[in-house]
Amino acid sequence: MKFNKLRLNGFKSFVDPTELVIAEGLTGVVGPNGCGKSNLLEALRWVMGENRPKAMRGGGMEDVIFAGTTKRPARNFAEVALVIDNAERLAPAAFNDQDNLEIVRRITRDIGSAYKVGTKEVRARDVQMLFADASTGAHSPALVRQGQISELINAKPKARRRILEEAAGISGLYQRRHEAELKLKAAEQNLERVDDVVEQLA
Ligand code: ATP
Repeated sequence: MKFNKLRLNGFKSFVDPTELVIAEGLTGVVGPNGCGKSNLLEALRWVMGENRPKAMRGGGMEDVIFAGTTKRPARNFAEVALVIDNAERLAPAAFNDQDNLEIVRRITRDIGSAYKVGTKEVRARDVQMLFADASTGAHSPALVRQGQISELINAKPKARRRILEEAAGISGLYQRRHEAELKLKAAEQNLERVDDVVEQLA
């Protein structure tokens, strides 16, 4: 999956609308300490459906909203948009009618996150699946955080298996299997309850 553009508005230190064009080949981001390089990578992860505030270096998800400075007031929302190249029509059928597909996540204080793919409002899960099926996403090993290499070396076999599954492009299936198992468990519990009721009626 090729990323074409990342747009940020009110996300962490990117208070003003900012557009990063991701051209063919290698893109490097350079700048002094604290200028927002890691914030850019976090914006990428966030728009792909990251739901752990800790992975955004925050205590709560609203911490990604520009918190204000002595000169500028805090913002009430943050928005990140990612434009992906869909010329090969690899996106799920529901969104698969355009060469460029825009995925938008917006968080508003006291309201929470909302997602859009193109013009359609979607759930976080739809966005997470879209990227998982393309072997990428918020948890992709292609996005390497500081300290992550030593975490991988010390990882337990189960965590390493996840990385191999991701590389094999089956993490979307893994997620669907997990959801199917939860549904099966709920159905089994319902059946047990039905058995109890039938027993009482007999
Ligand atoms: P380094 O090279 O030291 O790793 P970096 O370029 O990766 O730095 P980041 O860690 O991305 O920099 O950015 C840190 C900056 O972002 C800090 O100045 C911090 O105050 C600012 N920042 C983080 N969250 C917010 C927020 N919610 N509102 C405003 N500014 C924020």
